[in-house]
Amino acid sequence: MKFSFEFKDFIEQEKDFDKLAIISENEQLTWKEFELRVNNLCDFLRKDKFDLLENPVVIYGHKQADFIVAVYACIKLKIPYIPIDVIYPRERIETVIKLAKVELILNCETSNLAINNTSEIKLHQNNFSFVQKRENYHFNANKSIVDPLIYLIFTSGSTGEPKGVQISTEAVVSFTNWMEYSFGFTENDVFINIALFSFDLSVYELLTFAKIGATLLLSDKSSTENPDLFLTRVKKFGGTVWVSTPSFSFLYSRIENSPVQNQVKFFLFCGEMLPNVLAKQLKENYPNTIIYNTYGPTEATVATTLVEITQEIIEKYNPLPVGFPKQESEILIEENEIIIVGKNVSLGYLNRPELNEEKFVTRKNLRAFKTGDNGYFEDGMLFCKGRNDDQVKLHGFRIELNEITAKINEIDFIQMSETIALRRNEEVKKIVSLVELKSNFAVKEVHDIKNEIFNFLKNSLPYYMIPSDIKVIEKIPLNQNGKSDKKALEKIYLAKA
Ligand code: AMP
Repeated sequence: MKFSFEFKDFIEQEKDFDKLAIISENEQLTWKEFELRVNNLCDFLRKDKFDLLENPVVIYGHKQADFIVAVYACIKLKIPYIPIDVIYPRERIETVIKLAKVELILNCETSNLAINNTSEIKLHQNNFSFVQKRENYHFNANKSIVDPLIYLIFTSGSTGEPKGVQISTEAVVSFTNWMEYSFGFTENDVFINIALFSFDLSVYELLTFAKIGATLLLSDKSSTENPDLFLTRVKKFGGTVWVSTPSFSFLYSRIENSPVQNQVKFFLFCGEMLPNVLAKQLKENYPNTIIYNTYGPTEATVATTLVEITQEIIEKYNPLPVGFPKQESEILIEENEIIIVGKNVSLGYLNRPELNEEKFVTRKNLRAFKTGDNGYFEDGMLFCKGRNDDQVKLHGFRIELNEITAKINEIDFIQMSETIALRRNEEVKKIVSLVELKSNFAVKEVHDIKNEIFNFLKNSLPYYMIPSDIKVIEKIPLNQNGKSDKKALEKIYLAKA
């Protein structure tokens, strides 16, 4: 069984029909069952003409097999989807729904979202039912078939609202072809999903397993956060392709005689710097496993470069290279900045013309993305060296510090605030916010102020964006340009914790 992303149907290969396609915490679907369920959902959606929906749908849930069914039904029906994990607070889900004009939610959870003015369909193991139904929809019988979107992923945005990265069919086809032919995966592989579906790292396995006709192993957050449970699960279901950020793998790299030592065939890394020490440690404890480092932002469809991190590379380079550009893409370095050119580049952020003009450009008559990453080439390989803006990675999560600052500034008693990243050896260790209160603000205990800010943030930001500390200071220092002076703020913060 294989899935074509050019919207042909599943390609049947009798011999694999009873092979497992998806293993979730509480279900196992063979390829036959998976295909049947996808087709049933397509039929259900067609009844209400949802295949003609003009705006994207939200798929909501956490690691259910149904989530994957919904993804593939949307792809088949050419309905762009926005994957949203349950870690998103309600306010953020509502923001995304408003920004993308979403009219339909496919909900894989048992609890309802019940968001105003949306239809909601509950998916539960081949049963589909409406939780609520809105009256009218924006249908478009002439929906573009030239290059429809496949998905939108919302990433942190510096204005205080997340931005929707639009990924086209062309980009996905280019990506999945690369996956099929350049990594050495086979239909016998079991892709180990770790990332939440709201992040484009998960697209690696979500869209590759079906292209290759392999198996997808899903694990709840409760399993991925418990190393013993996780390893037992990977062992039990024969996981072979480990896809994660380097941060996630640190712990596992140190385990000598790991139960999956000779079973995991590939470590596939992306999303942040792969530290040389981690690669070295993995080579020691998993000597037969291939380590891949890959690089790329969500805006260029998961990854654009690839390199196998061999013993020789570990010994020769520190920092490690992020790889050679894939065949269909080109990487340019302009004033130190990495520019990605090619089909894998997003069509732009949803409804953000000014930002698009700045970040999405044309090079060599092709779409190009100015990544904000600084980089250089050596021996034909790309290397990363920091960023030219305030975007950071914390534990593998992409965060625009300005988004946190903008949120805090919405609070009525805040005069001004700034959010800074504290680093050790270049790596972000924590994020803290410093706040200046309005002068007419009725004096409260600092403790109460901090709690109010934390509560406000918890309602609007996902947990990984909440600063680990907030410090109330008299005045935010400004530099000569009238902007807050981050170096001075770091000193103030560290002066007295
Ligand atoms: P995301 O959109 O979440 O995938 O984050 C993309 C950003 O993560 C890139 O722009 C880089 O700053 C960083 N990144 C991704 N892969 C790597 C890598 N292999 N090495 C260093 N940084 C990376």
